[in-house]
Amino acid sequence: MERVDVVVVGGGIVGLATARAILRTNPSRSVAVIEKEGAVGTHQSGRNSGVIHAGVYYQPGSIKARLCTAGRVSMVEYCREHGIDHAVCGKVVVAADEPDRVRLAELERRCEANGVRAELVGPDRLRELEPHVAGVAALHVRDTGIVDYADVCRSLAKEIEGADARIRLGCEVRSARETASGLVLETNGEPIEALRVVTCAGLHADEVARAVSGDAAVAGVRVIAFRGEYRELVASRAHLVRSLVYPVANPEYPFLGVHLTRGVDGNVHVGPNAVLAFAREGYEWRRTSGRDLRGMARFPGFWRFARRNWRFGLDEMARSLSSRRFTAAAQRLVPEVQRADLVAAPAGVRAQAIGRDGALMDDFVIRTAGRAIHVLNAPSPAATASLEIGAEIATKLHFDD
Ligand SMILES: Cc1cc2nc3c(=O)[nH]c(=O)nc-3n(C[C@H](O)[C@H](O)[C@H](O)COP(=O)(O)OP(=O)(O)OC[C@H]3O[C@@H](n4cnc5c(N)ncnc54)[C@H](O)[C@@H]3O)c2cc1C
Repeated sequence: MERVDVVVVGGGIVGLATARAILRTNPSRSVAVIEKEGAVGTHQSGRNSGVIHAGVYYQPGSIKARLCTAGRVSMVEYCREHGIDHAVCGKVVVAADEPDRVRLAELERRCEANGVRAELVGPDRLRELEPHVAGVAALHVRDTGIVDYADVCRSLAKEIEGADARIRLGCEVRSARETASGLVLETNGEPIEALRVVTCAGLHADEVARAVSGDAAVAGVRVIAFRGEYRELVASRAHLVRSLVYPVANPEYPFLGVHLTRGVDGNVHVGPNAVLAFAREGYEWRRTSGRDLRGMARFPGFWRFARRNWRFGLDEMARSLSSRRFTAAAQRLVPEVQRADLVAAPAGVRAQAIGRDGALMDDFVIRTAGRAIHVLNAPSPAATASLEIGAEIATKLHFDD
C-alpha cells in the first residue's frame, strides 16, 4: 500500500493550492493529491466566471474578506511568475435606479473597510468606462482582474508534480479507517495511507469529510448545489462590454446577480443565475440524483432554507427557463443587448453550505477533526483566494512524529 505524509483529496484549485503550500512549507514531506476525475479543475474551478475578485462584497473581518484581498494579490503575482494569461482590468458595479444607488454607497463603505480601491462615479464617467452601459451611478473598482482558473489549476498541478508529489487521477475516495500510524483511505483503486488528510472536495465536501472523519465532522453543515447558467454574447456584439459589468447584488444572497464579463479569451459571458440543482453535479436541468435529493430532504436546514427563499428560487428558475427574462437581466445593465445576441454557454455548479438554521453559510468553513482538515465551504471568491486558503491550511497542519 502506498504511504505518504499528507493526502489532499480534490484536484480543484483549493486542493491543488493546498498541496503546493504544504510542499513549500514542509519540503521534506511526501504529498499525494487524489482526484476522482481524469483531469484537474474539471468542476467549479474550471467552470466559473474567471474573475479575480478585489474583495468588494465581503463582511469586513470575515475570513473571506481577509483571504480574498490577500489572495487577489498572490493570484496576480502567481500568474505573472508562471506566464498565465490574465489582466487587471477593473470592473463597474452599476446602480440602475435610486434604491440601487443607496446599496452602492454601502458597497463603497465595504470597499473602504476591506482596503479595496473603489470610486463612486456618475453617468458621464460610467459612459467613458463602458460606453454601452446605462446607470444612474457606478462603483469603479480598479483592482478586479480576469484569468482562466483552469490554466491556474494546470500550472499548480505541474508545480506539484515537479516537486515529486503524485496526483492520482481517476481515483475516488470512498471511506477511511484510522490505524495506529495514520488514516487509510479506501478508494475505487488501491488504498493509500497518510499521517494527515486534507479534504477539498467542493460539491462533495460534506460527503467526503463524513467518509473520512465521521458524522461529527460535518455536524450542522450540508452542501447545496446551485447551478449557474451562462450565455455568451455573439462575436459581432462583444464590443458592447469592455471589461466587467455587475449589477448591485441583493445583499441577502452571496450570489452576485447576472453580470457581463469579458474573459481572457475575449468572449463576453453573461450570467450566472443561481438555480437549485437536483444533483450535486447537476450541470443541466435533466441531470437529477435521487441520492442527492434524498440527502437534501433529510437535512432539516434545507426545509428552513426553502421556506425562507422560495420566492428567490422561483425567480431564478423562471430566468433559467425563459431567455426573455435572462435577456432582461442583461438589458438592465446594457440596454442594447437583444435576445438574438445571446447564445448558450456551459454552466457551472456552485457548492454552497447551509446550516441547520437554513441560512446560507456566508464565510469559508474549514474544520479540523483528528488527523484531518476539511474544507467544508469554499464558494466564490475561493478561486481568487485559493493560494491564501492553501497557505492557511499548511500552517494548521502539524506533524507530531
Ligand atoms: C458559476 C460559478 C462562478 C464562479 N465565479 C467565480 C469567480 O469569478 N471568481 C472566484 O474567485 N470564484 C468563483 N467561483 C467560485 C470558485 O470557482 C470556487 O470557489 C472554487 O473553484 C472552489 O474550488 P474547490 O477546489 O474547492 O472545488 P472544485 O473545483 O469543485 O474541486 C473539488 C474537486 O474534488 C473532487 N472530488 C470530489 N469528491 C471526491 C472524492 N470522493 N474523491 C476524489 N476527488 C473528489 C472533484 O472531482 C473536484 O475536482 C465561481 C463558481 C461557480 C460555480
